[in-house]
Amino acid sequence: MRPTLLDPFFATIRSLSGIGPKVGLTISKLLNIDPAQDEPRLIDLIQLMPHSVIDRRQRPGVAFALDGAVTTAEIVVDYHQAPPSNNKRLPYRIFGHDDTGEITLVFFHAQPNWLKSQLPEGEKVIVSGKVERFNGHVTMVHPDYIVPSSQSEKLPLIEPVYPLTAGLSGKTLGRAIGEALDRLPLLPEWIDHTMLKQSGFPSFGVALRRIHTPVDPADVSVDSLPRKRLAYDEFLAGQLALGLVRHKTKKLAGKANPPRGTYTKKLLHVLPFTLTKGQEAAIAEISQDLASNEAMLRLLQGDVGSGKTVVAFMAMAQIAENGGQSALMAPTEVLAQQHFATISPLAEKIGLKTVLLTGREKGKSREKILADIKSGQTAFIIGTHALIQDSVDYHNLSLAIIDEQHRFGVHQRLNLLAKGIRPDMLVMTATPIPRTLVMTAFGDMDVSQLKEKPSGRKPVTTAILPEERLAELLDRVSVALQRGDKIYWICPLVEESESLELTSVEKRFEFLHARFGNIVGIVHGKMAATEKDQAMQDFKQGKTRLLVATTVVEVGVDVPDASIMIIEHAERFGLSQLHQLRGRVGRGDKQSSCILLYKAPIGKIAEARLNVMRETQDGFRIAEEDLRLRGEGEVLGTRQSGLPEFHMADLEVHSDLLAIARKDARLILEKDPQLMSERGQALRLLLYLFRQDGAIKLLRAG
Ligand code: ADP
Ligand code: MG
Repeated sequence: MRPTLLDPFFATIRSLSGIGPKVGLTISKLLNIDPAQDEPRLIDLIQLMPHSVIDRRQRPGVAFALDGAVTTAEIVVDYHQAPPSNNKRLPYRIFGHDDTGEITLVFFHAQPNWLKSQLPEGEKVIVSGKVERFNGHVTMVHPDYIVPSSQSEKLPLIEPVYPLTAGLSGKTLGRAIGEALDRLPLLPEWIDHTMLKQSGFPSFGVALRRIHTPVDPADVSVDSLPRKRLAYDEFLAGQLALGLVRHKTKKLAGKANPPRGTYTKKLLHVLPFTLTKGQEAAIAEISQDLASNEAMLRLLQGDVGSGKTVVAFMAMAQIAENGGQSALMAPTEVLAQQHFATISPLAEKIGLKTVLLTGREKGKSREKILADIKSGQTAFIIGTHALIQDSVDYHNLSLAIIDEQHRFGVHQRLNLLAKGIRPDMLVMTATPIPRTLVMTAFGDMDVSQLKEKPSGRKPVTTAILPEERLAELLDRVSVALQRGDKIYWICPLVEESESLELTSVEKRFEFLHARFGNIVGIVHGKMAATEKDQAMQDFKQGKTRLLVATTVVEVGVDVPDASIMIIEHAERFGLSQLHQLRGRVGRGDKQSSCILLYKAPIGKIAEARLNVMRETQDGFRIAEEDLRLRGEGEVLGTRQSGLPEFHMADLEVHSDLLAIARKDARLILEKDPQLMSERGQALRLLLYLFRQDGAIKLLRAG
């Protein structure tokens, strides 16, 4: 249970005055919180960092105000000039002056009464806003602030500027954040004394206040002490969470699961292919880990199509021959379904039972599956995050495998681990994560790599085509379909709106269906799970051969005889995403091709990125180029990367703090592995504040 001390941090933002349902939704959007999942809490709101400030201290006098700059002036109001009553579209003007000259305040759609009360003729007021000159007249259109001279303290001298989204004003946001800050309780310090002294860090609360109500523009900069303090906290929370996983899995002895040959040997016989050298090596490494009584924590990195699944399968078989259960968690139903389709028949051949558990299994069939999992009837459990629901009890979960890890957070990993008794853990990813980032995402893990692809794979030829040549492309598609080819047609990403994205897929489907008929299928994220599967099955079996899709096919989908990948608006996709998508073809023995359609004109960087795709198929190189072209920060920030997102920390600026936080987390856990000391208790608060409380569950289970 979360300590009640933290309750004010976790009140919903709607408890703030002036935040109703509508503004609440806008803020959800701004904070990237799915309203279907949760409402933003105060803690989320105060983690929104301003990117700059408006400095209202500048008071050069109205005559000397720079054109276009924000200026603050104490003026005497001379007189009001309302627009003529027959032309309300003209603005309301108020004339005033200070020692240096005259200024006109301009208001559109004004409320005369309000203006008269705010700016009474003959009074002294302070106005602050952007100044412009029209025909030599100094003008301020809609001042940001109007404050009577006697209340000058009401004017924020340094005003933080936040990223905004449509429908939300900086003032509303600033006021909400201010109120949130006022409600926050004092927290015990979790940073140790010496470090606090040496670094000069302010306390957590003071750091937040300094950033949100700055007294100096420098407070807001990413390398200010307050900001560094918060960045360190964020890193520390993440590293502690990872450290706790590691402690849980590694330091404590697991069960030894040596290879006995019962199932592994048989499995090698029934596999429809021989293993690559890389697969053999990875399987051997994993086999050794499983055999030892130290729990495994291993990352299996392998480019798309490198054949990670079978490596996992062999590990599962080794666990089964020791009587244990294995769970394989995939990020989407389509993927889970596909793993099930691959693994289940082969498992059956060697005498092992597999079940599939996703959000879709309901009622009786779900109960039966849960019973089989609980009784130990089934050795292999494949599914989505349904696998970590409370209702799922495992008989003896000994191996937890997470596929395409970058879609899952540390939370889910922790939750799956907590389902077993110190299970071994294997994490599989196709994302070639740059060295510096591995530790933020994974902490200290052993790594196996699949460097080569199964033999016989032909490289995918990649072409870049402007949209104007669509007609030509369609002719080629027509020929390919007649030849019996299978084609993916990926519709553009629409970042702003899922419904627009949907329209674009449906439109494209209709268009292609009109031309090619029932051979065209469609699949997208908004379809019901069963429909999605049906669509994938139809494509797999060849009932449809031109599949119009969104990026739902991006991760891991395996239809080996698909040989053409067409991606519309390729310039909108991230490079690693394009790579993932292209990886859906070239899986069989057919010569495959990938066509990247773009809409001209495109920028230099976009062009360079598409060229990278044409030049190489090496996932690591593509990831490197992506980093080089976009910068680390942005790769991290993207929705697709799935790497941990930081709110306060910026990896480019604060990477030294990451290293320190990592070391500190290790020291802390060595001394106080259960976070029981006074400082340990404070650190638990830190974990809650940065939403790493999955790790706390682990402690309690500990
Ligand atoms: P990924 O690493 O992207 O998850 P998969 O495990 O889905 O790759 O494997 C991709 C395809 O390669 C599958 O169709 C699989 O059956 C096939 N495959 C895996 N290993 C081999 C191998 N050693 N020889 C031939 N085909 C293989
Ligand atoms: Mg895979």
